[in-house]
Amino acid sequence: MVKLKVGISSCLMGDEVRFDGGHKKSAFCVDELSRHIQLVRFCPEVGIGMPVPRPTIRLEQHSRVQAVVPKTGQNVTSELASFADKVQVKVDELSGYVLCAKSPSCGMERVKLYDPETGHAQKAGMGIFAARLKANNPALPLEEDGRLNDPHLRENFVMRVYVFSQWKEMMQKLTKHQLLQFHQRCKLLLLAHNQQSYRELGKRVGEKEVIDEKFAEQYIVDVMDALSKPASRKNHTNVLQHIQGYFKADLAHERREELSDIILQYHDGILPLMSPLTLIRHYLREFPKEYLEGQWYLTPYPDDLKLRYGL
Ligand code: SF4
Repeated sequence: MVKLKVGISSCLMGDEVRFDGGHKKSAFCVDELSRHIQLVRFCPEVGIGMPVPRPTIRLEQHSRVQAVVPKTGQNVTSELASFADKVQVKVDELSGYVLCAKSPSCGMERVKLYDPETGHAQKAGMGIFAARLKANNPALPLEEDGRLNDPHLRENFVMRVYVFSQWKEMMQKLTKHQLLQFHQRCKLLLLAHNQQSYRELGKRVGEKEVIDEKFAEQYIVDVMDALSKPASRKNHTNVLQHIQGYFKADLAHERREELSDIILQYHDGILPLMSPLTLIRHYLREFPKEYLEGQWYLTPYPDDLKLRYGL
């Protein structure tokens, strides 16, 4: 089976490419994610010809944000942005990207941004490469290494990666029918993550007669944006109770009660999400339902990534 591809800052793979000759290996990416996903590494600073080791770069607020080497005064802003354009052909094959936090090249948010006059910094910048990567690929799921230590953010990122990979596959033959199918399979995920988007996107897809590229591009940006909002326990509970309704006619009273109790215990924080999900998946094998079986909510990614155990 062909592995889906996710881009990653090289130093997170353990490559010794940082300014000081070190790395920032991410155990989760290297040991866990790579079992299912092909990680494609990029180091923008090395990519623009900077040596290892090298003097540090910092972001400075001029009329526009600039990446400057304070030691030499060299400005590498346009080189770093152009590097993102140069690797776009490879980025087109990716379903997500893990960026190295705090870097003036790769950082996704809260990168130190200096006032060149006072030398004071605020955590308000975005790495130059990361900013161009995002501008070129507004729907591409992005995440930072540090945030991946949070089980909720980690699960959310991997879920988005798998949904986006389905989208890329579907885009190869974009028709209204294909788009409706994609949307259908996303429904419960959307309901869990963003109820307003669930309603709004459903209406938009239903009303559109002919699907063109412009519509599709905006649609997937909005889907990925909606899914990036963490799903609350309350919203998961709503979705689980919604699913429970599909088994009304199949389950005897005691089994319905048992499922209800388990969902409520999840809601109250007594049980993890996996408890009601496991029981629902068991019932689904016993009483197959085409609509539910197609829902990515129930199996968004390979189980052995164990991403829902801590939720
Ligand atoms: S943060 Fe980005 S530019 Fe810096 S070493 Fe890592 S990959 Fe290279």
